[in-house]
Amino acid sequence: MSLAIHKKDLADLFRDLSGKWPVYGPTENKEAVTSRFRFAKLSSFKNFAFNYGHTVLPPKQFFLPPEEVLFRFGDNKISPPEETEIILFGLNRKDGEGIFYLDKIMSEPIIDEKYQIRRQNIKIIIIDSLPPSNSLNCDLYLQRVDKDHYLAFPYSPFGEEIAQNPYFGHEGDVGTISTRHAADEVIYHPRLDKIVENSYNHPIWDKLADTCFNCGICSYVCPLCYCFKVEDQIDITKNVENDCQGCRNRSWDSCMLPDFAKVTFHNFRPELKDRIYNWYYHKFVRMPREYGIPGCIDCGRCITYCPANINYRDVLKELIKDEKNTK
Ligand code: SF4
Ligand code: SF4
Repeated sequence: MSLAIHKKDLADLFRDLSGKWPVYGPTENKEAVTSRFRFAKLSSFKNFAFNYGHTVLPPKQFFLPPEEVLFRFGDNKISPPEETEIILFGLNRKDGEGIFYLDKIMSEPIIDEKYQIRRQNIKIIIIDSLPPSNSLNCDLYLQRVDKDHYLAFPYSPFGEEIAQNPYFGHEGDVGTISTRHAADEVIYHPRLDKIVENSYNHPIWDKLADTCFNCGICSYVCPLCYCFKVEDQIDITKNVENDCQGCRNRSWDSCMLPDFAKVTFHNFRPELKDRIYNWYYHKFVRMPREYGIPGCIDCGRCITYCPANINYRDVLKELIKDEKNTK
């Protein structure tokens, strides 16, 4: 007998949750030509988009926002902004795995305290037809097993509490849908780190540098890109309580941008070709060696939103094909 919830009860569960916490999740703008799905505050279950595939910005925006005030300072005080508890509802498994890996990155070797505070305040409910993997750090996982039923897997005291809700029951007759999916032969190629590391002289990097626009979108939309910059903003005419007399601000950055590696009198990566190689090196050489995982969950966002139609999978496939020549 499995803990399960019927599809018709999901709306009631959502209504109960949104009565207690702000609930955010994927929504669809059917009129949009591209970029139809986004994460937004859900005022009603009708706005929730099942099977969203991928949104423009990944859920990292809730833990590591595009722009944020880390703390305000002035009058001899430091005041961090208050954080509120929210629920992220209905993420798919890939996005859940992206958060799991980002949790690792933001915990070691240096703990990002701001990220950790936000992370504790955000509860996550995943809904997917695939079974839960062991790379998830969510509160509740709902696996669709037939057109009417979702198996429920609580992973935290909060998830257990939700599963106490009367909408959940023990049902013995739920079906199963196929959950098999092939292991990715590109991202998990056994020699990918060596292949990318040894590819610096491969002509593909010049070819990419001829087409890439240096825009950084591939980093902004990536659930696992986490580079940021920190700047102080000071205006002593302002009131420290209500305005920003002194603010330490953090915002997303991208290693694809020309000034990313610029320091006083020097730029470590002035050439676009080097920045592109570095993007791949970080994801497919450094991160597997540092964290035991590639810096990619294969969500496809960087492919969909790259204005130059660069497809990282095609790049990796070409490097794998030419392995013998990449020395
Ligand atoms: S597919 Fe692109 S955007 Fe998605 S995780 Fe991989 S590198 Fe990042
Ligand atoms: S999104 Fe495409 S064009 Fe923009 S920096 Fe990335 S690879 Fe280059």
